[in-house]
Amino acid sequence: MLIVGGGTAGWLTAAYLARALGGAVSITLLEAPELGTIGVGEGTFPTIRETLRFLGIDEAAFVRDAGATFKQGVRFAEWQPPVAGVPHSYFHPFDPPYQGAGLVPHWLRQDARARAPFAEAVSIQQRVAAARRAPKQPGEGDFDGPLHYAFHFDAARLAALLATRARALGVAHRSARLRAVVGAADGGIARVETDIGALTADLYVDCTGFRAEMIGEALRSPFHSVADQLFTDRALTCKIPYDSPDTPLESATVATAHAAGWIWDIGLAGARGIGCVYASGYMGDDAAAETLGRYLGRDPAAIAPRRIAFTPGWRERSWIGNCVAVGLASGFLEPLESTGVVLIEAAAAMIAELLPSDGPVDAPAARFNALLAARYENIAAFLKLHYCLSARPEPFWRDHRDPATIPPRLRDWLDQWRHRPPSRFDFQLESETFAHFNYQYILYGMGYATAGGSADAAATERGERLLARVRTFGERAARELPPHRALVEQLAAAPISPARTGS
Ligand SMILES: Cc1cc2nc3c(=O)[nH]c(=O)nc-3n(C[C@H](O)[C@H](O)[C@H](O)COP(=O)(O)OP(=O)(O)OC[C@H]3O[C@@H](n4cnc5c(N)ncnc54)[C@H](O)[C@@H]3O)c2cc1C
Repeated sequence: MLIVGGGTAGWLTAAYLARALGGAVSITLLEAPELGTIGVGEGTFPTIRETLRFLGIDEAAFVRDAGATFKQGVRFAEWQPPVAGVPHSYFHPFDPPYQGAGLVPHWLRQDARARAPFAEAVSIQQRVAAARRAPKQPGEGDFDGPLHYAFHFDAARLAALLATRARALGVAHRSARLRAVVGAADGGIARVETDIGALTADLYVDCTGFRAEMIGEALRSPFHSVADQLFTDRALTCKIPYDSPDTPLESATVATAHAAGWIWDIGLAGARGIGCVYASGYMGDDAAAETLGRYLGRDPAAIAPRRIAFTPGWRERSWIGNCVAVGLASGFLEPLESTGVVLIEAAAAMIAELLPSDGPVDAPAARFNALLAARYENIAAFLKLHYCLSARPEPFWRDHRDPATIPPRLRDWLDQWRHRPPSRFDFQLESETFAHFNYQYILYGMGYATAGGSADAAATERGERLLARVRTFGERAARELPPHRALVEQLAAAPISPARTGS
């Protein structure tokens, strides 16, 4: 198997397949270091814990080597206009609502003007993240803990850590550039020409990022753009050092809306990772730099951010014959809710389980393509939800509310969700990244009104008991869990077990 590309997609896929397929398959990863990697992608999804565990990476080694911190969700600021001068803010935690069923209907029945914000009422995690506490105690098992969590990390250091792990799992590494792809009669790839000569493989994995050298340039898989639905297509990124080494660490991504997009603010161990995401159709590069400067309280000229352009969308077929694309070569929507790495994890797992040891690949490839396209489509609808519920007055936000830009399925759901909350039966699990409760957090965080119906006294009393329990448990957890920075520093300083190491 030949993997081309040494970014997060290439190395994660290499390590995953080496671990899943064992010695049965020999894997070579080819990369052209002079082309570099995209170098962003600092937020993940809770699935990353299972993936790292599967790869045999020690949590302390991961925190130390990838400069990682804990992520408990996303705090959204100013995605709605202020009310009476108070800026709007809400939290999307990873933890599902406490004891799911009874609590959400009870919250919906409460007086909308007097009730606590949704995430605060139904989840312990809101209080923990607001207090900048870690999601777990020291000494809890690797990647385990009472609250769901993911990580923030330094993308370049993550790729290096994954490379070390992949090599330890038997992946061969060659530094050379792919120069040409020679097609096969069946529509796949016969061989690739590289700086170190011609190479052949049973399976070619295209992890060449936005260049999509094999799946796009050579095999011409059509790109399905959703630029008419998700408008952002640029990002200005930078790293900002902390004022002092003991500055408390946020344990959530902070996503602050602006006139034509939003800004991510990620607390890494050594610096804040910041990115201003914007739509070039609504905001020029200079205005975006000024927006970033205003957010940071600095002169834009002194920041010198990196500019990255992208088109939201995906390849209609990411797997064609003996070539499969993973990562940015397959598609990218936008940075909101951090779905790049989770899609790499999903693709690698699907390849591992669908790739036949021999025989035709057409049917597995078709299944892979259908599942991956459905995932992209579902994520695109979930991201659109964040925008189309906003009442902000600027043209970017107004156009997001235009029904013609909202996918029909989301429009239909929004109609239904006026009368009942999102339910697990709305979704097909194997092609979803986000569950019904993720939709609930966004809907009710953004102030969407769902009719609460009526309940008998017993249900009301039970609902009140549950709310009180969340409050008490949340306050206790926010008191007793360690400060986020303290846990990160403790893990980074821990001796690494020789049996399971990331390095
Ligand atoms: C602005 C922005 C913000 C993002 N934020 C997040 C986030 O918060 N969370 C998240 O999960 N994801 C995020 N992503 C997505 C994430 O960055 C990517 O999914 C991830 O980094 C994987 O990238 P990649 O490996 O596919 O591509 P790259 O990192 O671009 O790697 C491509 C590799 O291919 C090699 N290559 C290219 N052409 C050739 C050739 N001809 N020969 C040999 N080698 C070649 C390059 O040298 C490089 O090694 C973000 C993306 C963008 C654009």
